[in-house]
Amino acid sequence: MFVALPVAPGRAKVAVDGARALGIRGLSVTMPHKESVIPALDGLTPAASALGAVNCVLRAPHDDGLLLGDNTDGAGFLGGLRADFDLDVTGKRAVVLGAGGAGRAVVHALAGAGASSVVVVNRGSDRGLRAAGIAGGVGSFVAADDRDGFAGAVAGADLLVNATPIGMHVDGSDDTSPVPATWMRADLVVADLVYHPSVTPLMAAAGDAGARTANGLSMLVHQAAIAFEHWTGVSAPLEAMAVAAGGS
Ligand code: NAP
Repeated sequence: MFVALPVAPGRAKVAVDGARALGIRGLSVTMPHKESVIPALDGLTPAASALGAVNCVLRAPHDDGLLLGDNTDGAGFLGGLRADFDLDVTGKRAVVLGAGGAGRAVVHALAGAGASSVVVVNRGSDRGLRAAGIAGGVGSFVAADDRDGFAGAVAGADLLVNATPIGMHVDGSDDTSPVPATWMRADLVVADLVYHPSVTPLMAAAGDAGARTANGLSMLVHQAAIAFEHWTGVSAPLEAMAVAAGGS
């Protein structure tokens, strides 16, 4: 059984202690608790430790009394890339737009999977530099208003990832793309983390140029599948989960 349990800001530790006492097998963690939950846990996976954020709590494999924090977004993103594009990022040059929680997870995953360069393009430089730093020696930062640097990064990329909310339709208001259509080309792979609408303005422009595109539904499903496997120890029913999430 998977149930939603609202937890007030500042109450993450109380919630985790309650889960321990009740023998709950795992927790999904959402904002605003992704960072504040960490002191309540017994350990972190390398991804959660590098990102300083937890979205999944699980029982330690060899000691059921210990609770570990993981961050499944990056591994979910890579799983989505494999499913959507059959893409291995080893040696690939990537540009990541956005440096928030999702952008940082993508940057960490791409660098860990062997991308040869990861350029973070972000509006704000503090978050952009922090995200680029997560990629270590292969990471670099370009400010979004440095249009020449931005265009050059996209021109030199194999993979373009949108990890900003630009193009997301909540109330039908945002039909903009984070990248000019004229920068798109057929040999670019474009992964938009936005999945509503299912074809975002960025994907439409990239598709018109002949590029392969996918929205964020696969990432959503794959990160949830990783959590399911952490909690149950059995393979996740990926196809059923994709259908339930609105994919095919
Ligand atoms: P976040 O922590 O709030 O970060 C948002 C990022 O987007 C920041 O880098 C921000 O730049 C940038 N940004 C926001 N509005 C912008 C604008 N109008 N112009 C330029 N840059 C803008 O959000 P997040 O959690 O990383 O999520 C980002 C997107 O990914 C959202 O659309 C979310 O729905 C999606 N997402 C999808 C999945 C999935 O499974 N598919 C998972 C997680 C997130 P500044 O730093 O300059 O403010």
